[in-house]
Amino acid sequence: MTVSEMNRTAAALDIFDKLKNEGFGDLHFKVDPATGLEAIIAIHSTKRGPALGGCRFIHYDSSEDAIIDAMRLAKGMSYKTAIAGLPVGGGKAVIMRPDNLTDRPAFFRSFGQFVQELGGRYITALDSGTTLADMDCIAEITPYVGSKTNMGKHGGEGDPAPSTAQGVFRGIQAVVKYKFKRDDLKGLHIAIQGAGAVGYLLARHLHEAGAILSVADINPEAVERCKREFGATIVDYHTIHTLDCDIFSPCALGAILNDDTIPTIKAPIVAGGANNQLAKEHHGQVLRDRGIIYAPDYAINGGGIIHAAAKYFHHSDAKATQHIEEIYNVIYTICERADKLNQPTNVVANSIAEERLR
Ligand code: NAD
Repeated sequence: MTVSEMNRTAAALDIFDKLKNEGFGDLHFKVDPATGLEAIIAIHSTKRGPALGGCRFIHYDSSEDAIIDAMRLAKGMSYKTAIAGLPVGGGKAVIMRPDNLTDRPAFFRSFGQFVQELGGRYITALDSGTTLADMDCIAEITPYVGSKTNMGKHGGEGDPAPSTAQGVFRGIQAVVKYKFKRDDLKGLHIAIQGAGAVGYLLARHLHEAGAILSVADINPEAVERCKREFGATIVDYHTIHTLDCDIFSPCALGAILNDDTIPTIKAPIVAGGANNQLAKEHHGQVLRDRGIIYAPDYAINGGGIIHAAAKYFHHSDAKATQHIEEIYNVIYTICERADKLNQPTNVVANSIAEERLR
């Protein structure tokens, strides 16, 4: 569903009803005419700790679209942090990207003031449209920032992608163990859709573990690099999901698992780093009906948020790595429980997260 479609659905709803129905929390707004800042911070849950979630800085057609997006993303963060067992809750910031931005550092310092005014109930981090340089500006005003430059060695400073890729790799190992009863990935054929920040680093892990790779990306340079460095086969990005392989790993787009694609998937496992892979919740059941094990996206791609939380709480790199390694057990448990309860894996993941949020 596009943001505009969600907006139309939301238009029929009273905002307080929506907050209550979705289990929020609170919703905060800020305007700063001096810098042009128009921002929303949605706090879904602080039950497990301060609400952690990225700051999205993209164009929205309307403020309603931005509110709905902030709420949807904040709720998703509660589930993601809960399934990862982090001592934080879920929140998200959305900043309306202005047509003209004359002083970006001042703009983000103004946003930092907004975060500061919430007194630590919300911790911000990187998301679409924001950069580590923006986070550094925010950090000049407030300590409640989970990603900055120069945060230490783990995961390439403040960049979450290496940790996300590491977690997805562990999740893939877990599903392989569950499905194929094997501890190694040697000779398994894995199709990666999207060789960007996460997909490329995941490809490196998989290559080092002896997997055979096929990759697709709309960016020819991205796939060429995987071919050169990992001997990957380049596949058309329109058809990568149809490949006859062991694992299909979506690392690019949301809603890739839908009515059109699922009947054409031949891989018995779907496990990748992309967010919001299921077009609709019921597609988890459709995958299960086809005998395909799906590693729920927010459970397998939580390495980045574990990394951000570790940086925020000044945990050692070793402790962060150990926590990311735990994604193996999370995914294995979800697979086991799905079969025991005869439920799709996404439903099982949601119920584990909801149990922890109660
Ligand atoms: P990225 O922009 O670096 O990489 C995405 C790649 O997908 C790009 O190379 C792009 O060219 C490619 N792509 C776009 N459309 C495509 C298509 N139709 N077919 C094939 N490839 C296509 O982004 P990223 O940081 O690697 O994130 C990838 C996914 O993982 C996103 O869904 C993101 O939300 C999710 N995710 C990322 C992180 C992180 O730490 N970066 C954390 C959690 C989830």
